[in-house]
Amino acid sequence: MVTFQLCNSLKFLIPVSINQGSNTLHSPRDNSVIKVVVNTPLRRSFDYLPPENISTQLSSGLRVRVPFGKRELIGLIVETSIESDFSFSELKRIIEVVDQEPVFDAQMMSLFKWAASYYHYPLGQVIYNAMPAHVRQGKTLALSRTNKAKHEGNLETLTTELILNEQQELAKDAIMKQGNRFHCFLLEGVTGSGKTEVYLQLIAEKIRSGLQVIMLVPEISLTPQTIQHFKGRFADNIVAIHSGLTDKQRFNAWSDARLGKADIIIGTRSAIFTPLLRPGLIIIDEEHDTSYKQHEGFRYSARDLAIYRAQLFDIPIILGSATPSLESLHNALSNRYSLLSLELRAAKASKPTFNCIDLKGKPLSEGFSEELLDSINAHLQQNKQVLIFLNRRGYAPLLQCHDCGWTATCTRCDTSYTLHRSSPELRCHRCESQRKIIHACPSCHSRALLPIGLGTERTEKKLEESFPEVPIFRIDRDTTRNRNKLEDTITAINKGQKAILVGTQMLAKGHHFPEVTLVAVLDADAGLFSSDFRGQEFMGQLLIQVAGRSGRGKNAGEVLIQTHNSTHPSLNTLINNGYKQFSRTLLEQRSMANLPPFSHQALIRAEASKVSLPMDFLKEVKNITKPNLPDSIFILGPLPAPMEKRAGRFRFQLLLQASNRAELHNLLNQMVPVYEALPLNRKVRWSIDVDPLDFS
Ligand code: ADP
Ligand code: ZN
Ligand code: ZN
Repeated sequence: MVTFQLCNSLKFLIPVSINQGSNTLHSPRDNSVIKVVVNTPLRRSFDYLPPENISTQLSSGLRVRVPFGKRELIGLIVETSIESDFSFSELKRIIEVVDQEPVFDAQMMSLFKWAASYYHYPLGQVIYNAMPAHVRQGKTLALSRTNKAKHEGNLETLTTELILNEQQELAKDAIMKQGNRFHCFLLEGVTGSGKTEVYLQLIAEKIRSGLQVIMLVPEISLTPQTIQHFKGRFADNIVAIHSGLTDKQRFNAWSDARLGKADIIIGTRSAIFTPLLRPGLIIIDEEHDTSYKQHEGFRYSARDLAIYRAQLFDIPIILGSATPSLESLHNALSNRYSLLSLELRAAKASKPTFNCIDLKGKPLSEGFSEELLDSINAHLQQNKQVLIFLNRRGYAPLLQCHDCGWTATCTRCDTSYTLHRSSPELRCHRCESQRKIIHACPSCHSRALLPIGLGTERTEKKLEESFPEVPIFRIDRDTTRNRNKLEDTITAINKGQKAILVGTQMLAKGHHFPEVTLVAVLDADAGLFSSDFRGQEFMGQLLIQVAGRSGRGKNAGEVLIQTHNSTHPSLNTLINNGYKQFSRTLLEQRSMANLPPFSHQALIRAEASKVSLPMDFLKEVKNITKPNLPDSIFILGPLPAPMEKRAGRFRFQLLLQASNRAELHNLLNQMVPVYEALPLNRKVRWSIDVDPLDFS
């Protein structure tokens, strides 16, 4: 009876080809329902009927042009079905099928679906985020089918491969031994240990077997150097995908990857969504870098998605870093990943020596102790380069009236303006708003306005005065807006004459400056006392990465750290015992406090221009969540965000922390539609951040 009814209803819904078990359409007349996602914040797909007189089979991954309200949109088919929540007479027809073959294969579609469910973000927007602009607009794609079989996989390298040292060889062998199946490796190699050479040789092996490799790097500033290096070895079958490309360049690079024309894809975060014809290996360089996490909109972690992608595609993945994230380290130490170590610097370079300069009671000149200035001088005398690290751009973070105490403040953020001098203005580093420099106090008309505190511009000026003969290169977000300029600067530095480099964390990331023998950290104190539970981890990573720029060439390197807290225990572990012990100690502390990676978090943020609204919204969220809360999850908040006001909006947050990841996701799956139905939903801007890294 049941069978009969079921058959009957199926018959009623779809008259043809139902029992072929495929989700493709076989008859132009049949009533299959095509589920399409478009770029909207609605967490659902939309049902359409196939176009009339269709001859092609419709399947998931094809773009279609559909009527949507009064507009026509390009959408992507995510499913074909025999059912709809609407009556068939209400369904509109697809206007046009754009593609002859799917833009994304079944595995990529699974990746998008997983990402949408894991990050609780609308599938349509996940997919649109992953498409180059031309693809979103419906531009015709070349067919990939023909390329798959043709590939030869022969490879001539332009520069010879280096002879690997023992540890590099062990790492390479361990990875090769896993073949082409899924396995996650954490390559923990000290700065300068030759991780890149290991990548290069593995990539060569994969290309020889006819496979493609995707490698992510953290920042756009890193790509030119890496690409140059890779092109030196592999000639031209490399494409780069990063935010500095024009739409056309991006589309071309993406297409070459998808069509199998490019063997190596090097890119920043979003490149993880690049489709590949013959995927063989994924590499995440500097895997600890927080720029792999998108901080706005679709808040995904490219590293975590990459691991899931490797699993889906059943290919190996390597996470490389001198300073692995505690998340990856925990996975490696609990044998979910294989841990591979490179403990020595490759080539002839030795590890730099570390020393603290205790600043307590010492006279400072624009942030420099006498001792530091002497050391800088000594290294310059040897015709070497010196790198000064200060993680704050601009001239001074505060402009204050000496007579009445007034400070220049951005009223939209309730925070002080940073004084910039090289392009003279006051700039708010929260909302990036600018105003002209003022020369008299608006409150008491005094002209005694003092810049307080240090930024890279001020440090640069001080160094110009102290070392007038020496070229100084400042590298921060202000001097590198123009990509070519950064490349020129790096080229100039690597000509090798004596020089001083001043910069923010941009300088810390992966650069190879062989002539730098002294790295000085002007102020280590800021990182020591962060309210963020990851503060110490980030401080340790940053210090070790900056320090790692020292002594990468023939000459031994030195690192000097200025601090008022030279006896601080973690700083001492870091300096005396290195990141390896430092990170294991932090991991134990996290375990005891049951913080990530030993628990799992989701942060619900809300903001509005009226201060009471986000607080009220999050209180409601908390109230309706509470009755459904399993024992494994607790809620903290709502609390004002550390950066309580930005660009005129008040910001609050509510933290969910779970000892069981699956239960956290079950809860969110169940609750998100309820949150969306709250009356305040429309009055605040709110979002869910799964595995949040940034609590500001
Ligand atoms: P990492 O990426 O681990 O920081 P790099 O790959 O940049 O280190 O290597 C640092 C330097 O050591 C580079 O100049 C590289 O050419 C050199 N190098 C790497 N491996 C070897 C090797 N096996 N023999 C000689 N030099 C090497
Ligand atoms: Zn004043
Ligand atoms: Zn502001």
